[in-house]
Amino acid sequence: MIRDQFRKFVEAKVAPHCHEWHLKDELIPLEVLNGVAEMGVFGLTLPEEYGGLGMGKTAMCVVTEELSRGYIGVGSLGTRAEIAGELIRLGGTEEQKQEWLPRIASGEILPTAVFTEPNTGSDLGSLRTRAVKDGDSYVVTGNKTWITHASRSDLMTLLVRTNPETKDWRGLSMMLAPKSRGTEADPFPTPGMTGGEIKVLGYRGMKEYELGFDGFKVPAANLLGGVEGQGFKQLMETFESARIQTAARAVGVAQNALEVGLQYAKDRIQFGKPLYAFPRVACKVAWSAVETMIARQLTYFSAREKDGGHRCDIEAGMAKLLGARVAWSNADNALQIHGGNGYAEEYQISRILCDARILNIFEGAAEIQAQVIARGLLSGGRG
Ligand SMILES: Cc1cc2nc3c(=O)[nH]c(=O)nc-3n(C[C@H](O)[C@H](O)[C@H](O)COP(=O)(O)OP(=O)(O)OC[C@H]3O[C@@H](n4cnc5c(N)ncnc54)[C@H](O)[C@@H]3O)c2cc1C
Repeated sequence: MIRDQFRKFVEAKVAPHCHEWHLKDELIPLEVLNGVAEMGVFGLTLPEEYGGLGMGKTAMCVVTEELSRGYIGVGSLGTRAEIAGELIRLGGTEEQKQEWLPRIASGEILPTAVFTEPNTGSDLGSLRTRAVKDGDSYVVTGNKTWITHASRSDLMTLLVRTNPETKDWRGLSMMLAPKSRGTEADPFPTPGMTGGEIKVLGYRGMKEYELGFDGFKVPAANLLGGVEGQGFKQLMETFESARIQTAARAVGVAQNALEVGLQYAKDRIQFGKPLYAFPRVACKVAWSAVETMIARQLTYFSAREKDGGHRCDIEAGMAKLLGARVAWSNADNALQIHGGNGYAEEYQISRILCDARILNIFEGAAEIQAQVIARGLLSGGRG
């Protein structure tokens, strides 16, 4: 039922328009974002007592997959709510949960995840942005980069260093930092904060930004959990869910590529036959279908493990690693089936290829997932 509901939404509101949003490099229209909010996506996995729907990660996978099958940008709208929701649900004080979770669940507040810095990506524990306590505020100074949806968001989950004596993960804290929503004319109106857009190949629709903080203030009461030095640990606790969600995005993109490739193979005639009649073309479609199914089942398996309350970092890492690869290879195969037309911006597959490419980089690059899996196996985890 959930799949059907989201499929209908995507067919009506997303699929007919997303290629134009991509080509014009526009933000996803608020009307679509509000539609996603009304369908409960931002509170899907949050408990009902905090305004959520109280559903599991398996349901989240189905929803994410369907939205991403339409457009990765729409399937990724919920990613930031999932990360902020998990951070606050698992690491927040009761007061912080009451204050933020219902508004995140309803979509009234759009969160953004602010972790990466110009010199710190995979090695997040070494980040440098400083937060210094000054009375009842923290004053933040430093630079962040690659922050998705940073302008049109209201709340940053901001990872900072509160202990200057440290150089690793131990001195980090997570702040719930409110900001004013930006406009096209004034993308970053909040005092103490500036930003500039990073132009990207794909994964458009929310836009990416570099951010500068200079004297930016966060109320001291917004330190997640109320205790300094917990930030990295709090973030690690959300990694399994975030990776499962990204694996589901990858499955959606892989499915989209498969369908677009298959359609073209049916429509295009060469040597008096549709392309699918040529075994090497049919084989590309068939193999894409097989790999998509494997990636989907592995993603669902890790979601069920998570829903069952089991540790699943190895499975989530596998699902994310495989999903991203399958999305990319499906997009590559589908583009090949399009021949020269695949290389034209006018055709959807050119966008899907660019969208697929990001999946192997963010939420832990492929190499990092491989490390997580290998480390897990070496320490006796299940293979
Ligand atoms: C479109 C986009 C959106 C993003 N959105 C956000 C966001 O909203 N919020 C946010 O905080 N960040 C965001 N990011 C940042 C993203 O999480 C990082 O790009 C990612 O973590 C990789 O970090 P890096 O780019 O600094 O690469 P690096 O860490 O410099 O890595 C470069 C290469 O070296 C490899 N490498 C690094 N360390 C190792 C190792 N130990 N072993 C083997 N290989 C290694 C990596 O896998 C990679 O291939 C986004 C990035 C992009 C491109």
